[in-house]
Amino acid sequence: MPFILTINAGSSSIKFQCFEMKGEARSDAINQDSKPLAKGQIDRLNSLNTSLFYERHDGVTSQTNVPQMEYGKIFRLIFQILLDPDKGILKTLNEIQAVGHRVVHGGSYFAESALVTSEVETAIQQCVPLAPLHNPYNLGGIHACREVLADVPHVAVFDTAFHQTMPDYAYMYPIPYHLYEKSGIRRYGFHGTSHRYVSARAAEMLERPLAGLKLISCHLGNGCSITAIDRGKSIDTSMGFTPLEGLMMGTRCGDIDPALIFHLVEEHQMSPGHIHQMLNNESGLLGISGMSSDIRDLLDAPSNKRAMLALNMFCYRVRRYIGQYAAVLGGLDALIFTAGIGENAPQIRAKICEKLGFIGINLDEKKNQDVGIEKAIHRADSPVQVLVIPTNEELMIARDTLRLIGG
Ligand code: ADP
Repeated sequence: MPFILTINAGSSSIKFQCFEMKGEARSDAINQDSKPLAKGQIDRLNSLNTSLFYERHDGVTSQTNVPQMEYGKIFRLIFQILLDPDKGILKTLNEIQAVGHRVVHGGSYFAESALVTSEVETAIQQCVPLAPLHNPYNLGGIHACREVLADVPHVAVFDTAFHQTMPDYAYMYPIPYHLYEKSGIRRYGFHGTSHRYVSARAAEMLERPLAGLKLISCHLGNGCSITAIDRGKSIDTSMGFTPLEGLMMGTRCGDIDPALIFHLVEEHQMSPGHIHQMLNNESGLLGISGMSSDIRDLLDAPSNKRAMLALNMFCYRVRRYIGQYAAVLGGLDALIFTAGIGENAPQIRAKICEKLGFIGINLDEKKNQDVGIEKAIHRADSPVQVLVIPTNEELMIARDTLRLIGG
């Protein structure tokens, strides 16, 4: 049976899913209802507790400890488990028709997914300075998998690609122009595969062509970003040169006054490395609450003032961006919530939508109570539709892979 393998290779984890291609390679062969036949995750790389969690479609699961080994060699464990006579789904590696790789940064080189060639690898390598914590691992995954599956097409699917349609006045920073020309310093945006997936699903749910819709999608997970999508194209997004800009997140600060950094250097004697660590890993919900980066913990602590402040700030900042993007779009047909918080936290969705009646966003309290399912949650008389759409980046990677190999 032919399969498409998706790989999401990061610094601390490697995730994979294996989709069955139904029949010949056709663009609809991996449809909305396609579930992976097998998936897994190698977690806590670079620790003594590295483990491989695996799950087959029929409920067979396993968890094994992984000894320390070179990054490139770890990928062999994925092929091993997929070939395992008891737990696996493959008889031979020849059943894998193509591999889709998530790549975080495609710079200005890639406005869409690409078949991996040596030129494409070079371009991904050239984007390493833009995403030093991600692209080297994404490339490591591509190299390792190409070594094992040399005769199979590999496809790179970029987090930044969807946002390449932003106009220059949205992606430029108002700083000296040569920094853009010489060093590519501009806004790129991230979570593009997720925003692209949910916007396409929204059009299907609304039974209207994407080309006629103005959408705002809120990807609220550990990392959070919001995108203004005009007729299927991203025209602005909250993350920028790095995923630190924009919304308040689990541990990331989002938008702050850049002069704060000089203040911290000069008045608090903090080093650039220390500030980087603080703004990326010790800020956001965790930094304000002092207790957790997980919204569930904060919701469970209603008498904790700082937890409540963190939640108020989080929702306020999302609402502020929704207002901005409604103005940027010049109207709005639907607001989309996705990712861990967007899909599962009705209280947060309700708080974000408070006061947005004036732009036509009216939540239905009862419909909003459901969690984790695809659903419209607006009132029948609401001019703007509000949709919860569980994201599925892997499905998008598999579909792009199939399309690029001629589906
Ligand atoms: P990532 O960005 O790592 O992919 P997710 O999209 O899985 O993250 O989102 C993780 C966050 O989603 C958690 O930190 C938590 O705040 C929130 N979350 C997950 N499940 C729930 C739930 N059942 N109720 C409320 N919030 C949830």
